[in-house]
Amino acid sequence: MHSRKGFGSKMLRRTLLKGMGALALAPLVTGLGVKNALASQPSDKPRIGRGRHNTRLVLLGTTGGMTWWPGSNRASNSQALLVGDAMYLIDLGFGACARLAEAFNFGHFVTIGGQRTQLELSTFLSDMRAVFFTHLHMDHLGDYPTFLEIGARAGYAEKRPLAIIGPGDRGRLEENMSGYKGTVITAESRNPPFATPTPGTKSMTDHILQAFAQTFNNCAQDEGYPDIPKIIDVREIGDPKTIPWPSGFVVPDPNKPWTADITCPSMKPFEIYKDDRLRVTATLVDHYEVYPAFAFRFDTEDGSLVISGDTGPDTRGNLQTLANGADVLVHEVIDDFWIKTSFKGVKEGDPAWPLYHHVMTAHTSTADVGRVAQQCRVKTLVLSHIAPANAPVARLRLAQQNFPGELIVGEDLMEIGVGNPRGRSKA
Ligand SMILES: [Zn+2]
Ligand SMILES: [Zn+2]
Repeated sequence: MHSRKGFGSKMLRRTLLKGMGALALAPLVTGLGVKNALASQPSDKPRIGRGRHNTRLVLLGTTGGMTWWPGSNRASNSQALLVGDAMYLIDLGFGACARLAEAFNFGHFVTIGGQRTQLELSTFLSDMRAVFFTHLHMDHLGDYPTFLEIGARAGYAEKRPLAIIGPGDRGRLEENMSGYKGTVITAESRNPPFATPTPGTKSMTDHILQAFAQTFNNCAQDEGYPDIPKIIDVREIGDPKTIPWPSGFVVPDPNKPWTADITCPSMKPFEIYKDDRLRVTATLVDHYEVYPAFAFRFDTEDGSLVISGDTGPDTRGNLQTLANGADVLVHEVIDDFWIKTSFKGVKEGDPAWPLYHHVMTAHTSTADVGRVAQQCRVKTLVLSHIAPANAPVARLRLAQQNFPGELIVGEDLMEIGVGNPRGRSKA
């Protein structure tokens, strides 16, 4: 069918095949190819489930940081995981919703009287099952409000309530590492009901609904849009009612200083989600002052993928335990050369010190990421959450020096397949 040809040879840049004990890469296509493929689609249903692999990850956004990087059009961090016809999202950084539509929204067109037209609104997200947030930084959830409303109309809860799973309220501000004293946004500084400086996923969602109530109410009342509060099922990691911490885990004492030993203690992975297509486990990683920050592992019948989330290189072994032997590790990275040149000579008290401190403590450089992947014993390392987004690919590939496996420098709309492509027997 044309859709398979378009999906396999035009939309996707690279695909990873696992089989016969070896890895094989095949070149695929660019975002521009997506538009060309769309133009050639006279009538089609969504392409979800029609790729070459039963399990596959589509990188929707491959940069990070609360900034726009000059010279790059990478969207902020986001991934779509497809297992058969089931779809999952991991993070929704700014720009992710546009990439989601580019990747999957091919609509339903017909030709009437020689005129091509769309008869109905597209519901290309109707096989969506869950959204996972690694942590609550805007470069991982900036498009969440857009997704909540427009995604609902695109059918994310057409078959079942959508599970939205993310960190809970950490209960206190992070340590002030830089000496900077900004306004703390709470009920005291803003109008109620903003009652906490560190809302978790549930509170954040409620506040988004409140903030955009004119749109949500208008659409639900006047335009037949889905009733959002009734079709989402928000669950917080660490909430005893939904996803409790693993037994033996001690929630950090809010009165003790915030150190990495407290925000990223050594722990065993624990299950946060399961259905008939996959099992998802999580562990804490070291995003330094940001707690909790998670890595997720997705196990399917075809293989396993791990998303590191934002983390420094020392997770007290947590990431190594979670990712042990996985087929694919998608790991954040920051360009070591950029750090050394942009922050050369910066010392405590300088204006650039807070950002330099954050970069050095909460992220993983090209000098370290390969070693981490090697310790995780993964077959393939995919670099994403690339900072700066404009870092040359050749410099990012320096990560290979400490990693013997396959290295892929991520790009928006790149697809990574897991397991054998369809039509081939398992190894
Ligand atoms: Zn980030
Ligand atoms: Zn972050």
